Amino acid sequence: LGRRINAAVSDLTRSQNLDEKAFDGMVKEICNALLEADVNVKLVSTLRKSIKNTVNFKDLPPAVNKKRLIQKAVFDELVKLVDPHAEPFKPKKGKPNVIMFVGLQGSGKTTTCTKLARWYQTRGFKSCLVCADTFRAGAFDQLKQNATKAKIPYFGSLTSTDPALVAAEGVAKFKKERFEIIIVDTSGRHRQEKDLFDEMTQIQRAITPDQTIMVLDATIGQQAEAQSKAFKETADFGSIIITKTDGHASGGGAISAVAATHTPIVFIGTGEHMLDLERFQPQPFVSKMLGMGDMQGLVEHVQALKLDQKDTMKHIAEGVFTVRDLRDQLQNIMKMGPLSKMAGMIPGLNQMMGGMDDEEGSMKMKRMIYICDSMTNKELDSDGKIFVEQPSRMTRVARGSGTSVREVEELLSQQKVMAGMAKKMGGMGKNMARAQQQM
Ligand code: GDP
Ligand code: MG
Repeated sequence: LGRRINAAVSDLTRSQNLDEKAFDGMVKEICNALLEADVNVKLVSTLRKSIKNTVNFKDLPPAVNKKRLIQKAVFDELVKLVDPHAEPFKPKKGKPNVIMFVGLQGSGKTTTCTKLARWYQTRGFKSCLVCADTFRAGAFDQLKQNATKAKIPYFGSLTSTDPALVAAEGVAKFKKERFEIIIVDTSGRHRQEKDLFDEMTQIQRAITPDQTIMVLDATIGQQAEAQSKAFKETADFGSIIITKTDGHASGGGAISAVAATHTPIVFIGTGEHMLDLERFQPQPFVSKMLGMGDMQGLVEHVQALKLDQKDTMKHIAEGVFTVRDLRDQLQNIMKMGPLSKMAGMIPGLNQMMGGMDDEEGSMKMKRMIYICDSMTNKELDSDGKIFVEQPSRMTRVARGSGTSVREVEELLSQQKVMAGMAKKMGGMGKNMARAQQQM
C-alpha cells in the first residue's frame, strides 16, 4: 500500500508539468490503493475530498510548492486514518488490571505479552502472566521461558484442556497476591474458527478483562480488515498492537484495522527481543510507511544519546546532506545499535541492509566508513556530484579503502537519498532548530 501511494506521489512529483489532470490521477490512484487494502469506502472518499480541498489548484499562487503540499496532504490524511482519536486504555495503580490478548496463531501474542508485562514492570506496576493457551503443545513452555528471562511471575497448566478455567484460576491467584497488571495469553488457533471464537468468549466471561488487546501481524495486509472486524465482533477489543513492523510490511494492514474497528493502536512490535516494543505514534509510522524514513525519530534518537550531530542537524535544517554527514551518521548508528532497527529509520538504508543480520550489517557499515575515510575533505564536504563528474575519484577511493567501485557507488547513492530527504525536510529541520534555540 505504502509503496503504491508513494509511487503515485513520486510519479506526479517527477513529472515536470504538475497540472490538475495529473493531480486528479494521483488522488484516484491513492484512493484505489486504499480501497484495495480494504479501507472503508467512506473513509477513502473523505480522504479524497480532504486532499482535494487542501490542494486546490485553481486558487494556488504559482509560487507555492505544490509537490510539497500534496505530499503533506497525503501524509496528514494517512495520519488521521491511523489516529482514531480514542483515548487508549490506561491501567490504574493499586488495583488489578486484567489484560487479555487475542489474535491469530503466529501473530505474536506470546512474545508481545511478555514484552508488555516487562514494559509495565519497569514502570512500577507489579506485573504477571497467565497462559490460557491449552491448545498448542509447548505454548506454556514458551511463555514460561520468556517470563523467566524477563523475571515476570507466571501461571499455567501443562495438563488442563480448559483454557477458561486455567485463565480464571491464574487471574484469581494473582489478584489475591495483589498484582496490578495481569496479562492473559490465549491460543489463537483451532480446527474451526467458530471454536476459536467460542473459546475467546468463554475466557472473556471467566475473567472479565479490563482491557482486551488484539495482536495483529503487520504482514497480514489485505486480510487485516476482515480479520480485525471478526475479532472485534466477538471479543470487542479496546486496543491493537501491531507486531513485526521491523519487517518489510507496508503498514496498510494497520490502517485498515484501525479504520475497520475504530480502535487505537497502542504499541508496535519492532523485533523478536523483549525490548522491541514501542509506543505507537501515528506520524513516524506513516512516514515510514510512505518510505520517507523516520528522519525525525532518527534525529531525536541521536539527540537523546548526546552524540555529536550539530553540523548534520544544521545541514538538514538548511536542506543539505553531504557525504560527511552520511559518514557521521553511520558512525553514530554504529554507537547506537541494535543496528537493524536504526537502519530502518534511514531512508534507503533499510532496503540495502535487507536480509542481513546485525553482524553483516555492521560489517557493511564499517566498510562504508572506510570508504569515507579514504576521501579528501573536498569530497567529504561535497554533495557527491564531484564523483559523477570525475569518476576516477571513485576508483581511487575504492582502492584506498580496500573496497570496490560498486560499494563506493552504493554509498553515494545512499547519500543522494539522504540529501533528497534533507531537502524535503528542510522546513521541518528549520522548525526544529528554531524550537531548540528557544529551549
Ligand atoms: P502467537 O502464536 O500469537 O503467540 O505468536 P508468537 O508470540 O509465538 O510469535 C510468533 C513468531 O513471531 C515468533 O517467532 C516471534 O519471535 C515472532 N515475532 C513476534 N513479534 C515480533 C516482532 O515484533 N518482530 C519480529 N521480527 N518477530 C516477531
Ligand atoms: Mg502463543
